[in-house]
Amino acid sequence: MSDERLRLAIQKSGRLSDGSFELLKSCGLTISRGRDKLYGRVQEMPIDVMLLRDDDIPAFVADNACDIGIVGQNVFEEELLSGIHDTPANEVMELGFARCRLMLAAPKEWSFDGATMLAGKRIATSYPALTKAWLEAESVDSKVVMMKGSVEVAPRLKIADAVCDIVSTGATLDANGLKPVATVFESQAILIRNALKFSPEKQAIFDALLKRINGVLRSRDAKYIMMNAPRSAVAAITEFLPGADAPTVLELAGNPEKVAIHAVCGESVFWDTLEELKKLGASAILVLPIEKMMP
Ligand code: ATP
Ligand code: ZN
Repeated sequence: MSDERLRLAIQKSGRLSDGSFELLKSCGLTISRGRDKLYGRVQEMPIDVMLLRDDDIPAFVADNACDIGIVGQNVFEEELLSGIHDTPANEVMELGFARCRLMLAAPKEWSFDGATMLAGKRIATSYPALTKAWLEAESVDSKVVMMKGSVEVAPRLKIADAVCDIVSTGATLDANGLKPVATVFESQAILIRNALKFSPEKQAIFDALLKRINGVLRSRDAKYIMMNAPRSAVAAITEFLPGADAPTVLELAGNPEKVAIHAVCGESVFWDTLEELKKLGASAILVLPIEKMMP
């Protein structure tokens, strides 16, 4: 048997780590952490977990210190655009958590009427490459000032006129006399892998992991929906069900006119979906969460 293991990098602690641990848990994977807490081992699959600062993850993966990693798209794209790796890692898939926005923020007293207002101004950011790319796309010539942290204080200290920073609630901006004026980049957690070809053993572990991740992501929004309906309404209901494959239609004991319809809906099922189903003749509608799914 091969002793090949897949090396996965995730953030040690911070805004990505809860989501990363939760995703692995939903995949049925438990991590036993070593004493130094920099390494963990997945018990159920041959995967080693490396716990890092998020900013180090793209480089660790690009340089083949790890095979794959979970990182913010903002951090990954910034590294890609800055071109510091000869063979950068590749994005494999979006993971749907740690959503945030890189936003341009200006002093509240500015009456902002478009990117041209920024011409000749200084913009402080921890994301110079993403900011420059956006300015370029907007055909605006500004000076970008790199700051590692506390970007939002730059205008008050007269280091910059505006900032480009990750915004969630806007409270920090507000406290510093700033308001968000434009979205530069929309981000979420992504899975990345290095550009090297994996050995067949490693590829098999990676494929098995991907299959589980895909199953988790698909089941997050999916619902199992059950209802009774007149036989004559089956076609209309089948047509209407959001994101569903062919449903199962079952006999109802002692009632030849009616059937039970069961289906997996790939998209969210809302109250108006149920109301619409009722109008089509459905009754006793039940919507259940799905814990796991594998095609
Ligand atoms: P580290 O110590 O690992 O360097 P950090 O302080 O640089 O951590 P965090 O604040 O934990 O980073 O953010 C990590 C990533 O989480 C960001 O790069 C971004 O992708 C995402 N993120 C940042 N802010 C938010 C937010 N408010 N909501 C959701 N996700 C966010
Ligand atoms: Zn960081």
